[in-house]
Amino acid sequence: MSGVLSLVREDLREFAGYASARREGGEGRVWLNANESPWPNAADPGLDLHRYPDPQPDALRERLAALYGVAPERVLIGRGSDEAIDLLVRLLCRPGRDAVLVTPPVFGMYAVSARLQGAALVEVPLRDRGAGFALESDAVAEAAVSRKARLVFLCSPGNPTGQSLARDEVLALARRLAGYSLVVLDEAYVEYADSPSLADALVGQSNLAILRTLSKAHGLAAARIGCLLADPALVALLRNCQAPYPLPSPSVQLALSALSEAALSRTRERVASVRAERERLYRELAALPEVRRVYPSQGNFLLVRFADAGEALRRLRAAAVVVRDMRATPGLGDALRISIGRPEENDLVLAALRVGRPA
Ligand SMILES: *Cc1c(COP(=O)(O)O)cnc(C)c1O
Repeated sequence: MSGVLSLVREDLREFAGYASARREGGEGRVWLNANESPWPNAADPGLDLHRYPDPQPDALRERLAALYGVAPERVLIGRGSDEAIDLLVRLLCRPGRDAVLVTPPVFGMYAVSARLQGAALVEVPLRDRGAGFALESDAVAEAAVSRKARLVFLCSPGNPTGQSLARDEVLALARRLAGYSLVVLDEAYVEYADSPSLADALVGQSNLAILRTLSKAHGLAAARIGCLLADPALVALLRNCQAPYPLPSPSVQLALSALSEAALSRTRERVASVRAERERLYRELAALPEVRRVYPSQGNFLLVRFADAGEALRRLRAAAVVVRDMRATPGLGDALRISIGRPEENDLVLAALRVGRPA
């Protein structure tokens, strides 16, 4: 058994899933096996939308594999990376017995999926060192083993903290947890970071997996295309657990267009603009007297502590600027998370916060 498969629920190791209509037929010319309409809909822009889609289209898989620098058989495409998170929890965690480990403050979907599966949630908070949040690697490793966490979710750059984890720290943790846990590194924001993806480290570390998405830097949140990069045996099993036709053809088409050379070069320009604006907003926010702290960020957002976060939120709302209220998150009772917008939108944030103060 490939090492990582020992972490999969025993009752699902041989699971073959639903035998979808697109998996049979090969060279067929007349398709009468799926009760589809033989005619395209009048609104069809030429995508053969009357046919059920390929569950994992080769063209997109190969394009994403090339973009992320891995072999195509390591790529599972899903309805956003959220789907991969959910599938992992379902495939690895037995309800009531296994656990999911998270390092708050962090993206909420890991806990939501654990809850839905009936898997215990083990929390090992990041340590707030003032200048940034740090991973408590030893505590994570010990808790993962003692509490039977089949999954350890790490987020780098972290949402909402903004800090990246050191490559060596993540790899050391994965090595330490081999045979105990799958370490899932969520790189939803890595395009905005100084340090590159850890995708090259997947070969030879089968209990490491990586999440990527087209929802953020690529500007395709509504198309719902995300990926898990993982051990090929794990990817094959996850495919069997996925819905029969998870990827709508229009989304696949849009994703392929978004990965053309022209679109990618535009994406790189926009990432550069966000990075420049992030540094400008960081400096200007840090200089405001009502701001207690701005955390350095490697993502496309800033986590900001205010002397009076409620008042900051009111000023922003009065200017019709909507930011994320973090005050309900333990340890972040005075914080807002502000996404980096276009330059003129960022100007509005600064102007709204300065309202009522002498220029
Ligand atoms: C936005 C975000 C995602 C992306 O989710 P999709 O389902 O791919 O849109 C994943 N992880 C984190 C940490 C995020 O902030």
